[in-house]
Amino acid sequence: MGARPTPYLEGLNPAQREAVEAMDGPVLMLAGAGTGKTKALTCRIAHLLNTGRARPNEILAVTFTNKAAREMKDRVGAHMGQSVDGVRWLGTFHAICVKQLRRHAELVGLKSNFTILDTDDQIRLLKQLIRAAGMDDKRWPARQLAGLIDGWKNKALTPAKLGAADEAAFDDRGKALYAQYQHRLKELNACDFGDLLLHMVTIFQNHPDLLEQYQRWYKYILVDEYQDTNVAQYMWLRLLAQGHRNICCVGDDDQSIYGWRGAEVGNILRFEKDFPGATVVRLEQNYRSTPHILAAASSVIAANSGRLGKDLWTAEQDGEKVRLIGHWDGEEEARWVGEEIEAMHSGTRARLRKFSLDDQAILVRASHQMRAFEDRFLTIGLPYRVIGGPRFYERLEIRDAMAYFRVVISPEDDLAFERIINVPKRGVGDKAMTDIQVTARTNGVSLKEGARIAAQDGLLKGKAKSGVAQLIAQLDLWRYLYSNRGNEDVISDYDAEISELASKLGVVEAELALMTSKGMNVKEDCAELLLLAEQLKSQIKVLQSYVEYLRSDNDVVLAEIILDESGYTTMWQNDKNPDSPGRLENLKELVKALDAFDNLGGFLEHVALIMDNSNEEHGEKVTIMTLHGAKGLEFPVVFLPGWEEGLFPSQRSMDESGQQGLEEERRLAYVGITRAEEVCTISFAGNRRVYGQWQSQLPSRFIDELPQDHVDILTPPGLYGGGYGAAQSGGFSSEASGAGMSAAFETRVEKADVYNSPGWKRLQQRSQRSGAATNVRSGKGGHMTIDAK
Ligand code: ATP
Ligand code: MG
Repeated sequence: MGARPTPYLEGLNPAQREAVEAMDGPVLMLAGAGTGKTKALTCRIAHLLNTGRARPNEILAVTFTNKAAREMKDRVGAHMGQSVDGVRWLGTFHAICVKQLRRHAELVGLKSNFTILDTDDQIRLLKQLIRAAGMDDKRWPARQLAGLIDGWKNKALTPAKLGAADEAAFDDRGKALYAQYQHRLKELNACDFGDLLLHMVTIFQNHPDLLEQYQRWYKYILVDEYQDTNVAQYMWLRLLAQGHRNICCVGDDDQSIYGWRGAEVGNILRFEKDFPGATVVRLEQNYRSTPHILAAASSVIAANSGRLGKDLWTAEQDGEKVRLIGHWDGEEEARWVGEEIEAMHSGTRARLRKFSLDDQAILVRASHQMRAFEDRFLTIGLPYRVIGGPRFYERLEIRDAMAYFRVVISPEDDLAFERIINVPKRGVGDKAMTDIQVTARTNGVSLKEGARIAAQDGLLKGKAKSGVAQLIAQLDLWRYLYSNRGNEDVISDYDAEISELASKLGVVEAELALMTSKGMNVKEDCAELLLLAEQLKSQIKVLQSYVEYLRSDNDVVLAEIILDESGYTTMWQNDKNPDSPGRLENLKELVKALDAFDNLGGFLEHVALIMDNSNEEHGEKVTIMTLHGAKGLEFPVVFLPGWEEGLFPSQRSMDESGQQGLEEERRLAYVGITRAEEVCTISFAGNRRVYGQWQSQLPSRFIDELPQDHVDILTPPGLYGGGYGAAQSGGFSSEASGAGMSAAFETRVEKADVYNSPGWKRLQQRSQRSGAATNVRSGKGGHMTIDAK
């Protein structure tokens, strides 16, 4: 030993060094954000290699995301002063398990070239099984079963191992369906994501000789982000480490943010039980963030109960306080962040140095928040990258919705028509589609016209025929509306129709009133009349929405009509998959984006240009990503937008998991703040537009939990008329002594002359222009709700 230099050890503190040099036996490193856990872990790998304890292929190193894995490899290389090749077993759990499973697929009845199903395939397969079992797949949706099965797999439960409670799931047939599903997968030579781990655990459990071989092979095991492992992952690790017990896990219970995916913080507690005598290393010095940022993060996380608890300190001095700013609405938030990023880039912010775009990141709670930033940055030409997940306009639901818009605007857009003809399902299978294509080709017309002919000529049958006929009629109607916005003749036609229906409704209602006065039981005796009244009402409502659209000055309402009438929105509403609520939010966000354009055509052109721009170019870029994806990363400058009740903490996670859900959200807030090295900016908007309705937003409760002494409240330039920083507050104590932060902000909003703000004026102009009534009521704490009718 000692033959090779070990410069990487120099930079470590004693506790880190202990973790690096305690090479044999179990090591658990439990420490807060930014304390150098990943650094110690990567030094440990370098040290193992450098001292000849292990060859590169004898190290198993697991982390959570592909990005984190890449970064880990780079860091090891940096410590060694050369890039490391041959660390074959460094990657995510999934990536490593795929490699293992390809070698031993036959042991679970698969061939080594098995395919990995994506969610769509998985759902389709489950649906077939549900129907084959004679169940109604509307009442018992495949997505729900998929969620159950994923949950079982995360807990390493094969069908045989399910407990009594689980057996009763899904109308008592969960277990049988799960078993059938696994069987079908084998027949198809396929597996799903959950299987990758489950199969490997099963293989290792049933083949001790093979397990032994792997235990000899992986001399050292290292795990980053250990707090987010689920039971199946833990079992896999434990099996592999049982022999030599050379396992080093690092994590932070305060950063456990995957409970919803089955991660169990309990694994941290189990570790010391399963690996008695483990060296437990605690790190307390944070090397990443300034004292203010650290104080803010610690103060927020302190509100959680049941923490393992730990102190963090930093040797750094001063720095910028955490910056907090409230905006009028989400669009202004995006505009402001864009300006800030440019100012930081050119180094024109007082007290702050110059930052490259690569140094700056926007971390959002929900992916639909990205849209406003992407649009804004494209408009001002600020280069950005979106990490983890497609960019907004590349998402499935957005592409579908845009395809609808495209067909309305250009009926000859065959690609778009093909995309939507059977989404939602209209009974158009492969055969019907081929018939339509052939009809279009022989008649020399577009696919849409081909479909019209095929439906009329009786080429299409049954459900396909009626489904296609209805779609064509709808497309014609939407196109008619689109071509006639602002056309007074058309409006008065619709108005006449509405008054005709209204007078019919009047007659029906009078009749009903008469019956009631005669003492008849209207519900039972006049069911038909009641039904008629309902039908008239809904027809009137539909026509009114057309008139509203024709009178408006952009295509927002039309987009809503298209998404509703086509059944596209309903399709996602009925979908029980965990991503569906997110997709619905993205759709709302899409409609919101339309507001800024005069018409759909202009909007589609804008998006086409965006997509073109998105071709990878080199150079500095701002990063946009979700908080979940940002785990383990760090940036000198971090923006945390959308800190509003319902958005962050997310209403969904509170509804679904109550207090636990809230605590997980709070850990996510902790993860967010601790990503920042020098400048951390938290923002929220007072209003967000949700489906044509302005909704007032309350600042997040996490804002109340920020420590006042470590926060600066910034003043948005638009809202108060002053330039940036001119009216900067000296802290909260002057604002609202002792009161929480949002109280301070609310006072601020009340005092502010919001009626003169540009946002307010724009709103007023818009509503006057469209002749719509705008109803403003004063909301809680000086916030306002504006219902644009
Ligand atoms: P997280 O919980 O967010 O994953 P972490 O504990 O893994 O954080 P690292 O990413 O390893 O922390 O380290 C945070 C920052 O501190 C990195 O920039 C790292 O280079 C630096 N750092 C870690 N240890 C030291 C040290 N002993 N001296 C100087 N800098 C250090
Ligand atoms: Mg880390």
